[in-house]
Amino acid sequence: MDGLERSSALTFIGGAGTVTGSKTLLETGGRKTLVDCGLFQGRKQLRLQNWEPFPVPPESIHAVVLTHAHIDHCGYLPRLVRGGFRGPVYCTEGTAQLAAIVLPDSGYLQEEEAEYANRKGFSKHDPALPLYTRQDAIDCLGQLEAVDFDTGVEVAPSIEATWRRAGHILGAASVGLTLSEPHKSVVFSGDLGRSTHPLLLPPEAIASADVMVTESTYGDENHPDSNAEEAIARVINRAAARGGVVIVPAFAVDRTEVVLMHLDRLVARGQVPDLPVFVDSPMACRALEVYREQARDRSPEFRPEFHGVPLFPSLQLTEARTTDESKALNRRHGPMIVISASGMATGGRVIHHLANRIGDDRNAVMLVGFQAPGTRGDALRAGAQQLKLHGRYHPVRAKVETMPLSSHADQADLLDWVGSAAPPPEIVYVNHGEKDSSAALIDELQNRLGLVAVAPRPGERVLL
Ligand SMILES: [Zn+2]
Repeated sequence: MDGLERSSALTFIGGAGTVTGSKTLLETGGRKTLVDCGLFQGRKQLRLQNWEPFPVPPESIHAVVLTHAHIDHCGYLPRLVRGGFRGPVYCTEGTAQLAAIVLPDSGYLQEEEAEYANRKGFSKHDPALPLYTRQDAIDCLGQLEAVDFDTGVEVAPSIEATWRRAGHILGAASVGLTLSEPHKSVVFSGDLGRSTHPLLLPPEAIASADVMVTESTYGDENHPDSNAEEAIARVINRAAARGGVVIVPAFAVDRTEVVLMHLDRLVARGQVPDLPVFVDSPMACRALEVYREQARDRSPEFRPEFHGVPLFPSLQLTEARTTDESKALNRRHGPMIVISASGMATGGRVIHHLANRIGDDRNAVMLVGFQAPGTRGDALRAGAQQLKLHGRYHPVRAKVETMPLSSHADQADLLDWVGSAAPPPEIVYVNHGEKDSSAALIDELQNRLGLVAVAPRPGERVLL
């Protein structure tokens, strides 16, 4: 084998210059390890990249290492397996359990999209095929191998990986890889959370890293210092006084738990009335089960007060699993709170709740997450006067309020995290961010921390 082939290198396959499609290939000792295996999402030009041939033969990859269960970090896995990857996929227990919920759902959405393209006849391919199916996603789950936090695992010969709490969603981790030849440590941030997560502990500091690969989703901004719980209380109290229904479009995984935890604390302190709360999303109900089980099992990710106790004890909480249970909510009168997916109102059961309630000025819509441009959630956030739901325009008379909640570290958090490495890293690769946010974070890393920081280009390969 020649020198170049034996040398250790990183290739930024996805997540470079964008926030989706996270995939970084690590080559060392003639072995390939893929860190994260995310799906490109959002703009069509990005989504089309999911269809391009993988830059190395999938069967040549020894192992995959996952930071967390968001689709932009694990959603390409069924496709990689379909392409011939047969190795282990190492991730934390929380990630394995959540991936078992979100990957089959992603497969189902891929099938639906292909079916829709065929019905409307707008596919270049005839017939349009799904990127992968629900069954492909179920099949790949057998390759997941759960690991503990803070315990070194040999993921390939001469590579030991350690997962550290990232506080972003359940199971989320930063992953440190220690290579024996050359002797180097490479730390991948994954997505970092915030110290404001009501259930999970904040991200762990890094001991040391020779090379860092950090996300930069919010590399160019600091979240406002406002109190989310007070804002939530205001919306609930006003709607309750009007006898209204509060509709909360929420991502099924983590955001639902965050909202429930804030509500639980507000009810316990008597700051909002004890209204009936409904979680109406089969996926959210399953994720809720995972959070409850992990808290019961004293997962080190949870804040100590939740170890071994039932979550949300103060709420009158009902989970609507079946379609009939969901439809029955339409006949109920307020005041009540309905938390339902999807988080940007692009689909899911929240659509029928909005269609049913948005025309009534007693009701409220509480936006609790990022709303991508072009989504119904974004239109609501921007003050749309009418909203198209099930093919029909509905006047927006319900009060629409945006809550200051984010599960992502901001610029100050990212600088703190990178700055916690001692001694400082030789170089920081800034990825998983739009161009402006990466550039802003690079400026700060260079000017404030005196580090060498670079935004890798898509597909760029660098030696370690
Ligand atoms: Zn994430």
